[in-house]
Amino acid sequence: MIRNYTFPLQARVGNLPIDFMTFTEFQLRLRTLCAVSFSALIAVYGAHAQDKVLNLYSARHYSTDEALYTNFTKATGIKINRLEGGEDQLLQRIKSEGANSPADVFLTVDAGRLWLADQEGVFAPVQSKVLNERIPAAYRLASNTWYGLSSRARVMVVDKLKVKPGEITSYEDLADPKWKGQVCTRSGSHVYMLSLISSIIEHAGAEKAEAWAKGVVANLARQPKGGDTDQVKAVAAGECAVALSNSYYLARMIKSDKADDRTAMERVRVVWPNTNGRGVHMNVSGGGVLKYAPNRDNAIKFMEYLVSDEAQGYFANGNNEWPIVPSLKVKNAALESMGTFKPDPINMIALGKNQRLAQEIVNRVGWK
Ligand code: FE
Repeated sequence: MIRNYTFPLQARVGNLPIDFMTFTEFQLRLRTLCAVSFSALIAVYGAHAQDKVLNLYSARHYSTDEALYTNFTKATGIKINRLEGGEDQLLQRIKSEGANSPADVFLTVDAGRLWLADQEGVFAPVQSKVLNERIPAAYRLASNTWYGLSSRARVMVVDKLKVKPGEITSYEDLADPKWKGQVCTRSGSHVYMLSLISSIIEHAGAEKAEAWAKGVVANLARQPKGGDTDQVKAVAAGECAVALSNSYYLARMIKSDKADDRTAMERVRVVWPNTNGRGVHMNVSGGGVLKYAPNRDNAIKFMEYLVSDEAQGYFANGNNEWPIVPSLKVKNAALESMGTFKPDPINMIALGKNQRLAQEIVNRVGWK
């Protein structure tokens, strides 16, 4: 149940004590008064509830988000009803609920997924000076339908025992025959890979992107399997020399309570790809105001709150990401220990519009 309105029902039976009325009189008065009072209450409290509620569908589930929501409610009086779920599951739900959806805002990860949701027509554009000023142009769309709210990078990790410093410096190196049998990746069809391939299509064209993908597949140490963390562990276990991972997984492993994770991170070296070229492939977690949002004004307020200094700290740090607002610096020792980097400046729209082509390439080269 997403909505949770409570009506303090106080229907009163006029000023007459019930003792002074006949039973029929009582019934009649009660019926009339209840009908009138209830409609009035719905009018008053219903509207009030609309003013003070935000229904959020979120694919994020980090403990720091609690503070974020509490602070928003404290600052605005707007209560947040939250439904958490998987990225695809929530999008399906928004689509099937259609015009009856109680959802006001949808938060999810990866520009590829945000773009797909936008293609499905679930977002409605907003005009917000705050969002346009706080979020760099590369991390929002000209259509104002969705916005990046925190950023992450797709980096490489190499085995310190097998790869000398400077020996692998770019995504292109993953396709170099020198590393035959030494590359681990997750499935090429995963949105993180599709977004990376989309960025290569944007910079180098589809042909070169396909040649690259073919080269990577030829270098694979094993069938693609598992998530990013599994690839890092495979490098640390000596199964491959190099792998790709989103930056926050690495920070999470550096900070981990598990000795195995920390030991794995000691064995590998983080490489920021393409520092001497276009820069590292960036992506976002983000969201937008939904087309059928019943509380649209609150939804815009919430989106604007998410780019405030305070919220950005919680939002980015919750998942070891970087704030989307460039002037803000996050205090995250694990991220800082990974060094500085040059971000690829392309607009996130490229990751969406090239996605289908990227999937076709993946299929053709057999990057399962
Ligand atoms: Fe992830």
